[in-house]
Amino acid sequence: MSVKLDTWLLEILACPQCRSPLRLEEAAERLVCTDEAGQDCGLSYPIRDGIPVLLIEEASKGSPSGEERA
Ligand SMILES: [Zn+2]
Repeated sequence: MSVKLDTWLLEILACPQCRSPLRLEEAAERLVCTDEAGQDCGLSYPIRDGIPVLLIEEASKGSPSGEERA
């Protein structure tokens, strides 16, 4: 089962934390921050019923470094 998002939708979406573009991880059904802003963000957002949930509270950190940055 894979998620399909319209290209135009992906293009207008941005990470709510660092405003970087988002990349679709179809297998994981998540939108992952591309971290283009270079802020070591790397959050990934869940997609529920085809709707991206772009909430920082719902996001999980993509990198397993465990380094927390407030
Ligand atoms: Zn981000």
